[in-house]
Amino acid sequence: MFMIGQGERIVVIGPPEPRHCPRCEQVTDFQPQLKYRYAEFDLLFGMVYAKRYQLACPQCGHGWLLDTRETERGLGAVPIPFRLRYGLLIGLALAAGIAIAAWRFNHGG
Ligand SMILES: [Zn+2]
Repeated sequence: MFMIGQGERIVVIGPPEPRHCPRCEQVTDFQPQLKYRYAEFDLLFGMVYAKRYQLACPQCGHGWLLDTRETERGLGAVPIPFRLRYGLLIGLALAAGIAIAAWRFNHGG
């Protein structure tokens, strides 16, 4: 069966930074996070969308967006599972491979 699932994940990507939160009106430990939504097809292939890096207050969720390119450079690796990052590419490659195999089969090659 072809199953499709979706979800949202928040990954903590570094040590907390104490900052003054304008909403809580106090200094809290803001957490650098990667937040992304993903869609999964058949638990094998997936794709990530709405990816963003943010610094968020642990109490009220207020925060700032971080620059994606700069943050990823600092991280070294993007903390998203391989199959979600490249799942769509893998799926397309497989589909293309099957299509080519089927074409060859039909053409006796
Ligand atoms: Zn707050």
